[in-house]
Amino acid sequence: MTHPDLETLLAAARAAGLRVGILSNGIGISEHRAGAIIEHADFIRISQDDAPDAEQPVRHTFKMYDHLQDEVSRSLENLARARKARPQSTCAVGFSYTIQKNNLRSIPRMVEYVSHSATVRELEMIVTFKIAHGAGEYLCTEEDLRWLRDEVLTNTAFMDHPCVNLRFFRDYFFPRLDLVDIARGEPTRSYYRRGRISCFTPSLFSFIDAFGGVYVCCHLYDDNGDFDSERRRNYVIGDITERSFLEVWGSPEYQQLRARLMPINVDAMPACGECTRHWVPNTLVSRLFEEVFQPLVEELGAPRAIAAYEALASAFPQHAVWF
Ligand code: SF4
Repeated sequence: MTHPDLETLLAAARAAGLRVGILSNGIGISEHRAGAIIEHADFIRISQDDAPDAEQPVRHTFKMYDHLQDEVSRSLENLARARKARPQSTCAVGFSYTIQKNNLRSIPRMVEYVSHSATVRELEMIVTFKIAHGAGEYLCTEEDLRWLRDEVLTNTAFMDHPCVNLRFFRDYFFPRLDLVDIARGEPTRSYYRRGRISCFTPSLFSFIDAFGGVYVCCHLYDDNGDFDSERRRNYVIGDITERSFLEVWGSPEYQQLRARLMPINVDAMPACGECTRHWVPNTLVSRLFEEVFQPLVEELGAPRAIAAYEALASAFPQHAVWF
């Protein structure tokens, strides 16, 4: 949000036919900036630490916490004004909260806030909750998680709320992932071990950082790390300032990594057990791959199987991602 040419970059990306999503802490979205975002971006998601009336900051490193909420409110008002002035805009505006031990008990107040804020309602904001994972002192304890599962996720007012994704936790997350794993910051460890599930992310997606480094996904990139992150050095697959992206994408290193994830071996790739990115699509696509695509390859050979698969996909365009 501090880039001096943000508006120009957004307009150029849109003119080039790219889809643009913005992740922001909600600070500094001026009227001008809000106009460019609503006009050119596909979505903006604003990450918040806690409900606006929280007494203690979740992170102690943020010195301007006292003024943070005023800043975020101003940004939201600017986005709402920009949206009103551009009724044809399809830019979705959302909030996200990463739940950890310091903000877990605020979930009811977070839901209350999004239910009652006029600006949030005007922007039709969808609120996404995630649960913190990885190594760190901020993880929820097993007791915290039981409270969430048994007290919050049984409350119908929260569960029926049209703008929050808490039903996902009640119906999918807690029934399938082990509580002990979640509390250890490795939510998918046992799930991936039990399930013979492959990760299709390296075949569908690539992450390129601001310096040209190519990574298989944002988790292996170490997205909260600093510029000197050891993990980034370990996981970088190639550099598009040295080779073309297609060369990197088809390189033996990339192919080896894809092979190691078919299925995911969490003992060989422990970071995958910490990762909740794409675990739901991975589950569904693994079944389709094993039950539909592989039998087709065995029967018809790869080229004809791909053609048959594409024909199937075009018959169900609204479900194309699953085919
Ligand atoms: S499971 Fe997660 S960490 Fe592992 S490759 Fe897939 S997206 Fe990346």
